[in-house]
Amino acid sequence: MRYPKDVEIWEYAPGRKLAEVVIKVKNIKGALAKCSQAVSDLEVNMLTGFMNAPSASKVATWSFFADVTDARGGLSEFKKSLQSIDIVESVDVLASEDGFMVDKQHFPVQWAGRKALIMRAEALSEMLLRLWSVFGTGAATIIDQMAEAMGRQSAKEIVEDFGHDFAVAQLDELLSAYTALGYAEVSIERSKSSDFPLVVHAKGLFECEANYKRRLRQGSVFFRAHLRGFMTGIFEKTFDVVEVQCQTKGDEVCSFHITISPRPVPSVYSRASERKMKGFSQSTF
Ligand SMILES: [Zn+2]
Repeated sequence: MRYPKDVEIWEYAPGRKLAEVVIKVKNIKGALAKCSQAVSDLEVNMLTGFMNAPSASKVATWSFFADVTDARGGLSEFKKSLQSIDIVESVDVLASEDGFMVDKQHFPVQWAGRKALIMRAEALSEMLLRLWSVFGTGAATIIDQMAEAMGRQSAKEIVEDFGHDFAVAQLDELLSAYTALGYAEVSIERSKSSDFPLVVHAKGLFECEANYKRRLRQGSVFFRAHLRGFMTGIFEKTFDVVEVQCQTKGDEVCSFHITISPRPVPSVYSRASERKMKGFSQSTF
């Protein structure tokens, strides 16, 4: 069973009074229960939100949009009641009278402690389709290199954060991050006797789904190269990734066959930012 994951960006409820609430609490057992009971007692209806409570941190933040149309005593009472709870350190509330509000209380957006960007899949698909329409078949090289670099960078950060041995041992879990990030619903298949070849099934892959909807018989270039870059970054070996079945060809899922290539890791894969960029001074960026 997979559940949709809604990221808190904005809330739209015509005719309702909304608020965005951020409660900072001690990161202890029962803190959330105490706060949610208080919110409920004040006749406030919690909407989309999230909890940020890293195990190593002494404080946690609980953020959510709320329908406060029927809030007992209004927003000032709501805030005062929450602040009076012993485990609450601070409460910030922004309000909107016209049923629409955008999250203005969180920045930077982070994923595993690193700065992240959220992009709609259709926007990324549009970008790729624009490259295809401008550069024709040449777009394949641009997209391939771009995605390869992205995959490599993701792997590099994981190795920096967790170490190489951990990354190799947790490869299947890490590949599931493609699901957590919304690229596709990923599942992994491999033979019992060896780690490779490895097959990654990607159901609902954003790239091929977009091509399929537009009746294009173009399989994955972006995801395939990202996967290759990711594997290369984790193992420091060259990989071949072939899409052996694809939604654009009528298959139910896109499947990627991954093997270790006998070729050495090309030097072009070294980080561009580590190479001297001729003609640009540091201040240009
Ligand atoms: Zn595909």
